[in-house]
Amino acid sequence: MSQTSDKQRPTPRAGIMDIEAYVPGKSAAPAGVAKVHKLSSNENPLGPSPKAIEAAREVAAKLDIYPDGTARRLREAIAEVHGLNAANIICSNGSDEILGLLAQTYLSPGDEAVITEHAFMVYKIYIQSAGATPVTVKETDEHADIDAMLAAVTSRTKIVFLANPNNPTGTYIPFQEVRRLHAGLPRHVLLVLDAAYAEYVRRNDYEAGIELVGSAENVVMTRTFSKIGLGGARIGWMYAPTHIVDAINRIRGPFNVNTTAIEAGIAAIRDRDHVERSVSHNQTWLTWLSEELTKLGLRVTPSVGNFILIHFPDDEKYSAAKADDYLSARGFILRRVSGYGFPNALRMTVGTEEANRGVVAALTTFLKS
Ligand SMILES: *Cc1c(COP(=O)(O)O)cnc(C)c1O
Repeated sequence: MSQTSDKQRPTPRAGIMDIEAYVPGKSAAPAGVAKVHKLSSNENPLGPSPKAIEAAREVAAKLDIYPDGTARRLREAIAEVHGLNAANIICSNGSDEILGLLAQTYLSPGDEAVITEHAFMVYKIYIQSAGATPVTVKETDEHADIDAMLAAVTSRTKIVFLANPNNPTGTYIPFQEVRRLHAGLPRHVLLVLDAAYAEYVRRNDYEAGIELVGSAENVVMTRTFSKIGLGGARIGWMYAPTHIVDAINRIRGPFNVNTTAIEAGIAAIRDRDHVERSVSHNQTWLTWLSEELTKLGLRVTPSVGNFILIHFPDDEKYSAAKADDYLSARGFILRRVSGYGFPNALRMTVGTEEANRGVVAALTTFLKS
């Protein structure tokens, strides 16, 4: 590209052009593939709740009317299901939006925010767009390391982001450890608990963070409808102390959650059967995939989410890149995760029975090729 002087066209604020743009999961296979199984974005193989589909259809006739800017009925439905106070919930256009709003609200240039080695990529993007510096902390065996995170906190730290479970590893840390992290933080540091996969976790020592938010002034929990069947509707939410709700409400877009999202979201969260079916499908097939992939000699990171990180052999012939090409050619679209610090792994969303069996069968022949 030709060099243009600063005065000849608008120039982004300092630091913006240093940000590496987010790369979403692929959705297309090469031409000629009969059936495509998209296993790259952790969507729900059971699709949206049928009740959410119906609600979205019904509201179509009212799309001329602005939504309720406070998404009150959606907040009330969430509050009812999770036993929360609706006044301490903010809904957003996906939880990505709320993560960005938190960064914009609490980070200034020169501040630091702590993230883990294989953290969800959007944290870094939002930290940098607020002009602050991401401080990346080593993990231990692909798990967040609380001692290392605490050691990284300085007088400049304003936010600590923790995805629990994390994407793309699928690992979680027990709630005792989250408490220990919180207890070690100065009270002016905001702890953001990103519980995007909370619905899927079936572990007695796991908690998404509701109780901690209720008892501290510096903890928020973010959630999403995306992984449970409404990725396209873009619905996220945050549960936070009143003073944080008050600050975020000053800068969020006045109609950030659209009418279709509000109605589909209300129907979806009340459809507990659909959530249960989705979670139980995931349990069955996550276990099956872990076992079958391990039998093939592939290492998988132990996951509690709706996806699994598959590591490939050092042998160039059987690398993640080669496996990705092989699978794509057969219609199975997985996620490359080099950008997350895993150059030789692929992340696979737990799919339909057909997709799961298909991937294992394809990898079986790939590893013999
Ligand atoms: C998918 C995901 C999100 C955000 O999803 P939205 O679709 O924006 O709600 C947030 N955090 C993690 C760790 C995720 O994997």
